[in-house]
Amino acid sequence: MAEPGLPETGLTEPGPAEPDTLRLFFALWPDDATRDALNRTGKWLHLHWGGRRMRADTVHITLAFLGSTPVEQLGSLVACADAVQTDAFELILDQAGYWRHNRIGWLGASRTPPQHLELVGALNAALQGAGFAVDARPHVPHVTLLRNSAGGDVPECTPVRWPISDFVLVASRTDPDGAHYEVIRRWSLKN
Ligand code: ATP
Ligand code: MG
Repeated sequence: MAEPGLPETGLTEPGPAEPDTLRLFFALWPDDATRDALNRTGKWLHLHWGGRRMRADTVHITLAFLGSTPVEQLGSLVACADAVQTDAFELILDQAGYWRHNRIGWLGASRTPPQHLELVGALNAALQGAGFAVDARPHVPHVTLLRNSAGGDVPECTPVRWPISDFVLVASRTDPDGAHYEVIRRWSLKN
């Protein structure tokens, strides 16, 4: 019922409707210390290349991008991730990169550990097996730090040592002030 004096609009009904699709992706999500270190590199790269820095709480590495997904398929996605049994590892991010086609400045790894490729391979194989459309392009592990950036000479970056013991499923929502991410669930890697 509307409050006294307010017109009967129907807008006071309880709760907004739950969405029937979510924009989803699997990712590596940094611990606090790694996030701080990535953020310092973001500031350093921004001094050289300009553009828009990613908010500190959004930095990540995408492992598999699903895009808009019906919520009924969440159970199937969880089963895919449950099937991944690869080892924990350390990723050393020591190499800045710039992609001209999308004006993104990023931090990546001069050497990708085999465990990282095994994780991406196992996850994408499980997703593909369950009928999800996954990216066929070779995976380049990278943390996007700058958008709409000019790029330029590649500066030396202090290596960021990222201990990776789990991966996450994330829902992405785009608001006028940029992307907002919500970690929905987390899976441990083998120690
Ligand atoms: P916005 O699109 O609002 O600028 P965003 O790119 O950060 O923000 P999403 O588009 O939801 O947010 O993407 C989430 C993550 O998935 C990002 O790391 C993005 O680079 C990656 N991603 C997006 N689209 C694809 C795609 N088609 N293939 C692979 N990765 C993708
Ligand atoms: Mg995007």
